[in-house]
Amino acid sequence: MNQKMKINNKKNKKNEMAFCEVCNLNNDEGQNHKYYPNHKNSLSNFLSRFQTKIVDVRFFLKIPTILRPGISSRNRIWCVFCDFDIHETGSSFACANAISHLPSEEHLKKLKHFMWKYGGGMGWVGYFSGFRS
Ligand SMILES: [Zn+2]
Ligand SMILES: [Zn+2]
Repeated sequence: MNQKMKINNKKNKKNEMAFCEVCNLNNDEGQNHKYYPNHKNSLSNFLSRFQTKIVDVRFFLKIPTILRPGISSRNRIWCVFCDFDIHETGSSFACANAISHLPSEEHLKKLKHFMWKYGGGMGWVGYFSGFRS
């Protein structure tokens, strides 16, 4: 370990490097990062990708569909907010676990934190949690 480097880093009051999951990049812009146009563009792409999955979940919520065992491994959603893979192995209905995951307290907490951290706006919280449009 280079002790000198550590001390120098502490002295100059630069923001620490942080990884932005939305941009998939490291940056040292701290809280300002979320206001940058590049980040805002990435964020809207990021959210619209997840939006298409929410559309699927809503579809299966309205029209419960029996999940055939052979396809259950494909019927899975990566929750970008919780960093959590929602498996449907063992589910009887398509997206059953996703349908119960989205309104959960844990998901809501992570979702709000994400919107706060990345500047998505709380308007999205209802959409990505409670099946409200
Ligand atoms: Zn970013
Ligand atoms: Zn989640």
